[in-house]
Amino acid sequence: MNIGVIGIGFVGAVTAAVLADQGNSIIALDIDSDKIARFNSGDIPIFEPGLKELILKNKKNLKFTADYKMLRGTEIIFVAVPTPNLNGKINLDYVYRAISSIKSINNDAIIVIKSTVIPGTGSKIKDEFNVNIVSNPEFLREGNAIEDTLHPDRVIIGGEEEYAEKVANVWKFTNSPILITTRENAELIKYASNSFLATKISFINEIANLCEKIPNADVETVAKGMGYDRRIGPLFLKAGIGYGGSCLPKDTEAFIKYAEELGEEIKIIKAARNVNEERIERIIKIMENKIGKIGGLRILQMGISFKENTNDVRESQALKLYYALIKKGANVIVFDPVSKIEGIRYCESIKACLNSIDAIVVATEWPEFKILEDMDLKIPVIDGRRILNPEKFEKYAGIGRHYGD
Ligand code: NAD
Repeated sequence: MNIGVIGIGFVGAVTAAVLADQGNSIIALDIDSDKIARFNSGDIPIFEPGLKELILKNKKNLKFTADYKMLRGTEIIFVAVPTPNLNGKINLDYVYRAISSIKSINNDAIIVIKSTVIPGTGSKIKDEFNVNIVSNPEFLREGNAIEDTLHPDRVIIGGEEEYAEKVANVWKFTNSPILITTRENAELIKYASNSFLATKISFINEIANLCEKIPNADVETVAKGMGYDRRIGPLFLKAGIGYGGSCLPKDTEAFIKYAEELGEEIKIIKAARNVNEERIERIIKIMENKIGKIGGLRILQMGISFKENTNDVRESQALKLYYALIKKGANVIVFDPVSKIEGIRYCESIKACLNSIDAIVVATEWPEFKILEDMDLKIPVIDGRRILNPEKFEKYAGIGRHYGD
């Protein structure tokens, strides 16, 4: 099929590359012409495992452009532009701008909203612009995005059957369950899912807080034992310094605001957000307990991205930890396999800075950080993501392990 993808960020780039690889002709459009120039030159501005290779492999039927006119003749157009919050409320300006640009070029295509939007948005756009709108929320995880797009747990499609079926056809190759429903249900499924995941993480983080006070308790084992229960499941039951990224913080906030406008208070999501906000203080408390005063210490922080296998630092808890440690007067140096942000001091390799640090804190779950286990470290190691084997260290402390009062 001739398919357009608008907004070539994490979602758009992966959608475009995967659909091109399935034999579709893709026009990938972004208003950021510098970004488009980088995609065209093969200098892919997004780090996502396998993405660069997939884009280069499908060069022939994957065109990057900043020109909306290129969308003429496309049958389906996916919209994956940002939906940030403004004063806690979703800001739909990017979506509206994209729809109005499409409308001026191509009035016949099925417009598929991949961006996360509050329930009612698709139908409102349909009425205002008189276009065919289908909702197809995205559930991919950064760092695993190609695999998640090839084999999603489910595909959710909302809209009139005639159009929804056409979009379902695009995703048929995934062999995943496809749920066709109303646009409102589809939009709601996205927010309910993200809010549930945020709640699950905050839940286990509160159990971790308890474990820190109970002799012989360890949240890792508690989570493992809980996860065997199929009603609970093991995923997103990982204690740590909290969730971040471009989705969970923003979507839970927008969902609460949306519910308030309907006259409803979603208390459990508010609580999940509050618990998440306390995580940085918690890890600092563990550090102080293990090392003493943080001011003046030279600390190596492992990871700055919001999760492993990505260079995305949006709403990164690791970044928040970095600034919190600096505020406490620590001298922090960061090691991250891919994320580089201006103004932050990095070390090239872990070994290179080992002689000049007093302690290590793990802030992102990069699997590469397991190498610390083989370094015979004598300095304190604080595991904010519970990825290390405590037995391999002389002075170890981690989230969710007993350390006293
Ligand atoms: P992003 O910020 O990485 O990329 C969005 C892109 O859209 C940018 O490159 C921007 O230049 C472009 N853009 C903005 N306005 C445009 C316009 N009018 N026309 C063309 N391009 C335009 O965003 P993202 O992380 O890919 O997220 C996109 C949407 O998908 C958001 O609603 C987000 O909540 C949702 N989502 C994201 C993820 C994720 O893991 N990143 C997962 C699921 C859902």
